[in-house]
Amino acid sequence: MDSELSRNGHFQSAAAGDPTPLLDPYGREVNYLRVSVTDRCDFRCVYCMSENMTFLPKKDVLTLEELEQLCTAFIDLGVRKIRITGGEPLVRRDIVSLIEKLGAHIDTGALEELTVTTNGSQLEHMAEKLVACGVKRINVSIDTLDAKKFHTITRWGNLDKVLVGLKAATDAGLKIKINTVALKDVNETEIPSMIEWAHGQGFDLTLIETMPLGEIDYDRVDQYLPISKVRANLEHNWHLDDLPDRTGGPARYVHVKETDGRLGFITPLTHNFCESCNRVRLTCTGQLFMCLGQDDKADLRAALRDGHSDEAVHDAIREAISRKPKGHDFAIERRNQNPSVERHMSTTGG
Ligand code: SAM
Ligand code: SF4
Repeated sequence: MDSELSRNGHFQSAAAGDPTPLLDPYGREVNYLRVSVTDRCDFRCVYCMSENMTFLPKKDVLTLEELEQLCTAFIDLGVRKIRITGGEPLVRRDIVSLIEKLGAHIDTGALEELTVTTNGSQLEHMAEKLVACGVKRINVSIDTLDAKKFHTITRWGNLDKVLVGLKAATDAGLKIKINTVALKDVNETEIPSMIEWAHGQGFDLTLIETMPLGEIDYDRVDQYLPISKVRANLEHNWHLDDLPDRTGGPARYVHVKETDGRLGFITPLTHNFCESCNRVRLTCTGQLFMCLGQDDKADLRAALRDGHSDEAVHDAIREAISRKPKGHDFAIERRNQNPSVERHMSTTGG
């Protein structure tokens, strides 16, 4: 690559400190970027992937340097929070070098927060490195504490390894939120004990409704458990007090009096909160999705590789944000078995 970008290693901060926020057509400020750094994973969770996945050809995947360039462009335009996700982000070779470079933007004050969502399989040897890069909080996905069930859900995962990773993350000083996908007849009855366990360890826990993204080997109708039902069941025994906490995302939080911990609900099916959405999602091939649940995307890789200037990328980002849709139309129904969008969650990142 002989562009301006490759010579100086990163974008000139032509727009750094640009006072104009990235506003979408509905007046929402976009200040949060999620980056799926790989579509590959060492697990095959039954609600996320089919067992035999076809992954993206390596030639289509952006280099870590290119990902950094795109992230920097977003920071220049006002993005204040970046989440590294995937696929499993921590299995991408040398991912720490990207996280380290992005962490440098925290030191300058340009970025407020850098977080990671992981399945925990690599945390044992990576937790301290993440902290050294400036990561303070991570999300770890665990749907059950039953080792056999864990293996059934993840197909390839090992719960013990994840728990060792969690311990390493705690010891390294990372603040942890557990993500748990609520699955009918699978972890439904275990949810209260998962919450007690997480809160007992000082972790937040967020329950997520399974979303119709990509073909899997199972019927999503059979997996789908409305969080409204879970919440109603929890309220038989516990006091849940609504908290005002907002991340600009779809989660709503309560304080559980009995466990003295924070519990989140992500309810894209029973109740979406698109009106306050502040985020966009970048894939490892440089495609920008303005909504998790819609197909429209912008090709930032083309802007990056063909545009040869930071302005070309900035313009492509601004143009994309001007197309951010109002919200998604997720539905899980017996009569319509097709996924709402064809790509998997691992492509756009959860
Ligand atoms: N591999 C990492 C992990 O599992 O945390 C990061 C990527 S994963 C796609 C991010 C989050 O999306 C996880 O919490 C996972 O449980 C959730 N997820 C994956 N597929 C989903 C689906 N179809 N519906 C709802 N949540 C899903
Ligand atoms: Fe991998 Fe995360 Fe998807 Fe599970 S949810 S298959 S760990 S990307």
